[in-house]
Amino acid sequence: MLSKFERYPLTFGPTPIEPLPRLSAHLGGQVELYAKREDCNSGLAFGGNKLRKLEYIVPDAIASGADTLVSIGGVQSNHTRMVAATAAKIGMKCRIVQESWVPHEDAVYDRVGNILLSRVMGADVQLVDEGFDIGIRQSWENALEDVKAKGGKPYPIPAGASVHKFGGLGYVGFAEEVRAQEAQLGFQFDYIVVCTVTGSTHAGMVVGFAKDGRQRNVIGIDASFTPAQTKAQVLDIAQKTSALVGGKDIVKDDIVLNEDYAYPVYGVPSKETIEAIRLSARLEGMMTDPVYEGKSMQGMIDLVKKGFFPAGSKVLYAHLGGVPAINGYSYTFRNG
Ligand SMILES: *Cc1c(COP(=O)(O)O)cnc(C)c1O
Repeated sequence: MLSKFERYPLTFGPTPIEPLPRLSAHLGGQVELYAKREDCNSGLAFGGNKLRKLEYIVPDAIASGADTLVSIGGVQSNHTRMVAATAAKIGMKCRIVQESWVPHEDAVYDRVGNILLSRVMGADVQLVDEGFDIGIRQSWENALEDVKAKGGKPYPIPAGASVHKFGGLGYVGFAEEVRAQEAQLGFQFDYIVVCTVTGSTHAGMVVGFAKDGRQRNVIGIDASFTPAQTKAQVLDIAQKTSALVGGKDIVKDDIVLNEDYAYPVYGVPSKETIEAIRLSARLEGMMTDPVYEGKSMQGMIDLVKKGFFPAGSKVLYAHLGGVPAINGYSYTFRNG
Protein backbone atom coordinates (compact mmCIF):
# COMPACT_ATOMS: atom_id res chain seq x y z
CA MET A 1 0.00 0.00 0.00
CA LEU A 2 3.04 2.26 0.45
CA SER A 3 5.19 1.64 -2.61
CA LYS A 4 4.55 5.11 -4.06
CA PHE A 5 5.83 6.87 -0.92
CA GLU A 6 9.45 7.66 -0.28
CA ARG A 7 10.88 6.20 2.92
CA TYR A 8 14.08 7.26 4.67
CA PRO A 9 15.36 4.30 6.71
CA LEU A 10 15.69 5.06 10.42
CA THR A 11 14.85 1.58 11.73
CA PHE A 12 16.53 -1.83 11.49
CA GLY A 13 13.67 -3.26 9.41
CA PRO A 14 10.84 -5.59 10.44
CA THR A 15 10.52 -5.84 14.23
CA PRO A 16 10.49 -9.22 15.96
CA ILE A 17 7.32 -10.87 17.25
CA GLU A 18 7.95 -12.54 20.57
CA PRO A 19 5.65 -14.94 22.44
CA LEU A 20 4.87 -14.07 26.09
CA PRO A 21 4.32 -17.58 27.47
CA ARG A 22 4.77 -16.87 31.17
CA LEU A 23 2.43 -13.89 31.13
CA SER A 24 -0.11 -15.90 29.10
CA ALA A 25 0.07 -18.81 31.57
CA HIS A 26 -0.18 -16.48 34.57
CA LEU A 27 -3.43 -15.08 33.15
CA GLY A 28 -5.01 -18.53 32.82
CA GLY A 29 -3.50 -19.86 29.60
CA GLN A 30 -6.70 -19.42 27.57
CA VAL A 31 -5.30 -16.58 25.48
CA GLU A 32 -1.90 -16.57 23.76
CA LEU A 33 -0.12 -13.26 24.13
CA TYR A 34 2.64 -12.03 21.82
CA ALA A 35 4.56 -8.75 21.63
CA LYS A 36 5.73 -6.96 18.50
CA ARG A 37 8.86 -5.20 19.66
CA GLU A 38 8.64 -1.72 18.18
CA ASP A 39 10.64 -0.68 21.24
CA CYS A 40 13.65 -2.48 19.72
CA ASN A 41 13.22 -1.12 16.19
CA SER A 42 16.30 1.06 15.85
CA GLY A 43 19.74 2.00 17.06
CA LEU A 44 18.64 5.63 17.25
CA ALA A 45 18.44 6.58 20.93
CA PHE A 46 16.40 3.55 22.10
CA GLY A 47 13.93 3.64 19.19
CA GLY A 48 10.16 3.38 19.32
CA ASN A 49 7.02 4.01 17.30
CA LYS A 50 7.75 7.61 16.26
CA LEU A 51 10.66 6.45 14.09
CA ARG A 52 8.33 4.36 11.93
CA LYS A 53 6.28 7.51 11.31
CA LEU A 54 9.33 9.72 10.80
CA GLU A 55 10.66 7.43 8.06
CA TYR A 56 7.89 8.77 5.81
CA ILE A 57 8.24 12.38 6.99
CA VAL A 58 12.02 12.82 6.64
CA PRO A 59 12.03 12.73 2.79
CA ASP A 60 9.56 15.65 2.83
CA ALA A 61 11.70 17.51 5.39
CA ILE A 62 14.82 17.06 3.26
CA ALA A 63 12.99 18.07 0.07
CA SER A 64 11.71 21.24 1.76
CA GLY A 65 15.27 22.51 2.17
CA ALA A 66 14.79 22.89 5.92
CA ASP A 67 17.73 23.01 8.31
CA THR A 68 15.88 22.58 11.63
CA LEU A 69 13.28 20.04 12.77
CA VAL A 70 10.83 21.71 15.17
CA SER A 71 8.57 19.63 17.36
CA ILE A 72 6.71 19.47 20.66
CA GLY A 73 5.75 17.12 23.48
CA GLY A 74 5.65 16.77 27.25
CA VAL A 75 8.75 17.03 29.44
CA GLN A 76 9.33 13.25 29.13
CA SER A 77 8.22 13.03 25.48
CA ASN A 78 9.49 9.99 23.59
CA HIS A 79 8.53 11.68 20.37
CA THR A 80 10.78 14.71 20.83
CA ARG A 81 13.64 12.36 21.79
CA MET A 82 13.17 10.54 18.49
CA VAL A 83 12.97 13.81 16.54
CA ALA A 84 16.25 14.86 18.19
CA ALA A 85 17.84 11.56 17.17
CA THR A 86 16.50 11.86 13.63
CA ALA A 87 17.83 15.41 13.29
CA ALA A 88 21.27 14.23 14.42
CA LYS A 89 21.16 11.32 11.98
CA ILE A 90 20.19 13.41 8.95
CA GLY A 91 22.40 16.36 9.86
CA MET A 92 19.77 18.92 10.79
CA LYS A 93 19.33 21.07 13.87
CA CYS A 94 16.53 20.35 16.29
CA ARG A 95 14.34 22.70 18.29
CA ILE A 96 11.92 21.08 20.71
CA VAL A 97 9.29 22.50 23.02
CA GLN A 98 8.64 20.44 26.16
CA GLU A 99 5.41 21.39 27.89
CA SER A 100 4.32 20.52 31.42
CA TRP A 101 1.76 17.94 30.28
CA VAL A 102 2.13 15.77 33.34
CA PRO A 103 1.33 16.82 36.94
CA HIS A 104 4.20 14.77 38.33
CA GLU A 105 6.77 16.00 40.81
CA ASP A 106 9.69 13.60 40.78
CA ALA A 107 12.64 15.85 41.65
CA VAL A 108 14.66 14.98 38.54
CA TYR A 109 11.75 14.74 36.08
CA ASP A 110 13.21 17.33 33.70
CA ARG A 111 16.78 16.03 34.00
CA VAL A 112 16.65 12.30 33.24
CA GLY A 113 15.30 9.84 30.68
CA ASN A 114 14.06 11.24 27.38
CA ILE A 115 14.90 14.89 27.96
CA LEU A 116 18.43 14.00 29.04
CA LEU A 117 18.91 12.03 25.82
CA SER A 118 17.55 14.87 23.68
CA ARG A 119 19.93 17.34 25.28
CA VAL A 120 22.91 15.01 24.78
CA MET A 121 21.97 14.66 21.10
CA GLY A 122 22.29 18.42 20.76
CA ALA A 123 18.65 19.46 20.54
CA ASP A 124 17.71 22.98 21.61
CA VAL A 125 15.28 22.08 24.40
CA GLN A 126 12.81 24.66 25.67
CA LEU A 127 10.66 24.01 28.75
CA VAL A 128 7.23 25.68 28.61
CA ASP A 129 4.69 25.74 31.42
CA GLU A 130 1.53 24.67 29.54
CA GLY A 131 -0.86 21.78 30.19
CA PHE A 132 -1.72 18.65 28.12
CA ASP A 133 -3.26 18.96 24.66
CA ILE A 134 -2.82 16.71 21.62
CA GLY A 135 -3.78 19.53 19.23
CA ILE A 136 -1.70 22.25 17.56
CA ARG A 137 -0.02 24.41 20.18
CA GLN A 138 0.84 28.10 20.33
CA SER A 139 4.25 27.39 21.90
CA TRP A 140 5.14 25.25 18.86
CA GLU A 141 4.00 27.96 16.45
CA ASN A 142 6.15 30.41 18.42
CA ALA A 143 9.19 28.12 18.15
CA LEU A 144 8.70 27.91 14.36
CA GLU A 145 8.58 31.70 14.14
CA ASP A 146 11.62 32.02 16.38
CA VAL A 147 13.70 29.67 14.18
CA LYS A 148 12.72 31.78 11.14
CA ALA A 149 13.47 35.05 12.92
CA LYS A 150 16.98 33.75 13.62
CA GLY A 151 17.55 32.95 9.95
CA GLY A 152 16.83 29.22 10.07
CA LYS A 153 14.47 27.18 7.91
CA PRO A 154 12.19 25.17 10.18
CA TYR A 155 10.38 21.95 9.29
CA PRO A 156 7.30 21.52 11.50
CA ILE A 157 6.55 18.13 13.06
CA PRO A 158 3.46 18.21 15.30
CA ALA A 159 3.03 16.32 18.59
CA GLY A 160 3.55 12.60 18.11
CA ALA A 161 4.12 13.22 14.36
CA SER A 162 0.39 12.62 14.11
CA VAL A 163 -1.35 15.60 12.50
CA HIS A 164 1.02 15.55 9.53
CA LYS A 165 -0.04 14.53 6.02
CA PHE A 166 2.31 11.51 6.16
CA GLY A 167 1.95 10.79 9.92
CA GLY A 168 -0.26 7.73 9.43
CA LEU A 169 1.82 5.95 6.79
CA GLY A 170 4.34 4.25 9.08
CA TYR A 171 1.70 2.17 10.82
CA VAL A 172 0.01 1.21 7.58
CA GLY A 173 3.41 -0.37 6.98
CA PHE A 174 3.23 -2.06 10.38
CA ALA A 175 0.03 -3.86 9.31
CA GLU A 176 1.64 -5.01 6.08
CA GLU A 177 4.65 -6.24 8.03
CA VAL A 178 2.42 -8.19 10.45
CA ARG A 179 0.61 -9.81 7.51
CA ALA A 180 3.93 -10.95 6.05
CA GLN A 181 5.04 -12.29 9.45
CA GLU A 182 1.71 -14.10 9.88
CA ALA A 183 2.30 -15.86 6.57
CA GLN A 184 5.65 -17.09 7.94
CA LEU A 185 4.22 -18.04 11.33
CA GLY A 186 1.31 -19.89 9.74
CA PHE A 187 -1.39 -18.22 11.83
CA GLN A 188 -3.17 -14.86 12.14
CA PHE A 189 -3.53 -12.69 15.18
CA ASP A 190 -7.11 -12.22 16.35
CA TYR A 191 -6.49 -8.90 18.08
CA ILE A 192 -3.86 -6.18 18.13
CA VAL A 193 -3.56 -4.09 21.30
CA VAL A 194 -2.12 -0.59 20.92
CA CYS A 195 -1.67 2.41 23.18
CA THR A 196 -3.34 5.52 21.73
CA VAL A 197 -2.69 9.22 22.50
CA THR A 198 -2.02 11.51 19.51
CA GLY A 199 -3.56 8.88 17.25
CA SER A 200 -1.53 8.20 14.11
CA THR A 201 -0.18 4.85 15.33
CA HIS A 202 -3.69 3.51 15.86
CA ALA A 203 -4.98 5.28 12.72
CA GLY A 204 -2.28 3.79 10.49
CA MET A 205 -3.01 0.31 11.86
CA VAL A 206 -6.73 0.76 11.17
CA VAL A 207 -6.01 1.66 7.55
CA GLY A 208 -3.50 -1.16 7.14
CA PHE A 209 -5.66 -3.85 8.74
CA ALA A 210 -8.82 -2.63 6.93
CA LYS A 211 -7.29 -4.21 3.84
CA ASP A 212 -8.28 -7.63 5.17
CA GLY A 213 -11.25 -6.43 7.24
CA ARG A 214 -9.54 -6.55 10.63
CA GLN A 215 -9.62 -2.86 11.56
CA ARG A 216 -12.06 -3.40 14.44
CA ASN A 217 -9.73 -6.01 15.94
CA VAL A 218 -7.25 -3.22 16.60
CA ILE A 219 -7.99 -2.43 20.25
CA GLY A 220 -6.77 1.04 21.15
CA ILE A 221 -6.10 1.60 24.83
CA ASP A 222 -6.44 5.30 25.55
CA ALA A 223 -3.65 6.86 27.61
CA SER A 224 -4.54 10.50 26.89
CA PHE A 225 -7.44 10.76 29.37
CA THR A 226 -9.05 13.04 26.74
CA PRO A 227 -10.57 10.10 24.80
CA ALA A 228 -13.19 12.03 22.82
CA GLN A 229 -10.53 14.28 21.28
CA THR A 230 -8.16 11.34 20.77
CA LYS A 231 -10.83 9.20 19.09
CA ALA A 232 -11.86 12.05 16.77
CA GLN A 233 -8.20 12.59 15.86
CA VAL A 234 -7.66 8.86 15.16
CA LEU A 235 -10.72 8.83 12.86
CA ASP A 236 -9.61 11.97 11.03
CA ILE A 237 -6.05 10.71 10.51
CA ALA A 238 -7.31 7.27 9.44
CA GLN A 239 -9.68 8.75 6.85
CA LYS A 240 -7.02 11.08 5.43
CA THR A 241 -4.38 8.34 5.42
CA SER A 242 -6.73 5.89 3.73
CA ALA A 243 -7.50 8.44 1.02
CA LEU A 244 -3.76 9.00 0.56
CA VAL A 245 -2.90 5.30 0.14
CA GLY A 246 -6.07 4.39 -1.77
CA GLY A 247 -7.41 2.22 1.07
CA LYS A 248 -10.93 1.34 2.20
CA ASP A 249 -13.44 3.87 3.57
CA ILE A 250 -13.01 4.24 7.31
CA VAL A 251 -16.05 4.96 9.49
CA LYS A 252 -16.46 5.96 13.13
CA ASP A 253 -17.13 2.41 14.36
CA ASP A 254 -13.84 1.25 12.88
CA ILE A 255 -12.04 3.12 15.66
CA VAL A 256 -12.17 0.97 18.81
CA LEU A 257 -10.83 2.95 21.75
CA ASN A 258 -11.06 1.61 25.28
CA GLU A 259 -11.17 4.49 27.78
CA ASP A 260 -10.87 2.47 30.99
CA TYR A 261 -7.15 2.60 31.75
CA ALA A 262 -5.97 6.21 31.25
CA TYR A 263 -6.90 7.27 34.80
CA PRO A 264 -5.96 9.21 36.90
CA VAL A 265 -4.66 11.46 34.07
CA TYR A 266 -2.15 11.50 31.17
CA GLY A 267 1.35 10.64 32.35
CA VAL A 268 0.44 9.56 35.86
CA PRO A 269 0.32 5.81 36.49
CA SER A 270 -2.47 4.31 38.61
CA LYS A 271 -1.73 1.58 41.16
CA GLU A 272 -2.97 -0.93 38.58
CA THR A 273 -0.66 0.48 35.88
CA ILE A 274 2.30 0.10 38.24
CA GLU A 275 1.25 -3.49 38.99
CA ALA A 276 1.05 -4.24 35.25
CA ILE A 277 4.54 -2.79 34.70
CA ARG A 278 5.91 -5.01 37.48
CA LEU A 279 4.06 -8.10 36.24
CA SER A 280 5.36 -8.00 32.66
CA ALA A 281 8.83 -7.08 33.94
CA ARG A 282 8.90 -9.98 36.43
CA LEU A 283 7.34 -12.64 34.19
CA GLU A 284 8.89 -11.73 30.84
CA GLY A 285 11.74 -9.29 31.54
CA MET A 286 9.82 -6.92 29.28
CA MET A 287 9.94 -3.33 30.48
CA THR A 288 7.07 -0.89 29.93
CA ASP A 289 6.69 2.73 30.96
CA PRO A 290 4.26 4.56 33.29
CA VAL A 291 2.90 6.94 30.60
CA TYR A 292 1.96 4.72 27.65
CA GLU A 293 2.85 1.07 27.47
CA GLY A 294 2.19 0.36 31.13
CA LYS A 295 -1.38 1.52 30.56
CA SER A 296 -1.89 -0.61 27.43
CA MET A 297 -0.28 -3.55 29.29
CA GLN A 298 -2.70 -2.97 32.16
CA GLY A 299 -5.55 -2.83 29.65
CA MET A 300 -4.51 -6.05 27.91
CA ILE A 301 -4.10 -7.90 31.22
CA ASP A 302 -7.47 -6.71 32.49
CA LEU A 303 -9.24 -7.57 29.22
CA VAL A 304 -7.78 -11.11 29.38
CA LYS A 305 -8.97 -11.44 32.99
CA LYS A 306 -12.45 -10.19 32.05
CA GLY A 307 -12.75 -12.73 29.22
CA PHE A 308 -12.94 -10.04 26.52
CA PHE A 309 -10.77 -12.19 24.20
CA PRO A 310 -12.46 -15.54 23.43
CA ALA A 311 -10.54 -18.66 24.56
CA GLY A 312 -7.94 -19.64 21.99
CA SER A 313 -7.38 -16.05 20.82
CA LYS A 314 -3.94 -14.92 19.76
CA VAL A 315 -3.35 -11.33 20.86
CA LEU A 316 -0.52 -9.14 19.60
CA TYR A 317 0.62 -6.42 21.98
CA ALA A 318 2.29 -3.61 20.01
CA HIS A 319 5.13 -2.55 22.29
CA LEU A 320 5.69 1.01 21.07
CA GLY A 321 8.74 1.89 23.20
CA GLY A 322 8.90 4.63 25.83
CA VAL A 323 10.94 2.95 28.56
CA PRO A 324 13.40 5.88 29.03
CA ALA A 325 10.59 7.85 30.74
CA ILE A 326 10.58 5.43 33.67
CA ASN A 327 13.67 7.25 34.93
CA GLY A 328 11.42 10.21 35.70
CA TYR A 329 9.43 7.99 38.09
CA SER A 330 12.27 6.91 40.33
CA TYR A 331 10.36 7.60 43.55
CA THR A 332 7.36 5.52 42.41
CA PHE A 333 9.63 2.54 41.81
CA ARG A 334 12.06 3.15 44.70
CA ASN A 335 11.32 -0.31 46.09
CA GLY A 336 10.95 -2.03 42.72
C1 LIG B 1 3.74 8.28 21.27
C2 LIG B 1 3.64 6.98 21.97
C3 LIG B 1 2.43 6.27 22.02
C4 LIG B 1 1.17 6.79 21.41
O1 LIG B 1 1.21 6.84 20.01
P1 LIG B 1 0.33 7.91 19.23
O2 LIG B 1 0.62 7.71 17.81
O3 LIG B 1 0.72 9.24 19.78
O4 LIG B 1 -1.11 7.63 19.58
C5 LIG B 1 2.41 5.07 22.69
N1 LIG B 1 3.51 4.57 23.28
C6 LIG B 1 4.69 5.21 23.26
C7 LIG B 1 5.85 4.61 23.93
C8 LIG B 1 4.79 6.45 22.60
O5 LIG B 1 5.97 7.09 22.59
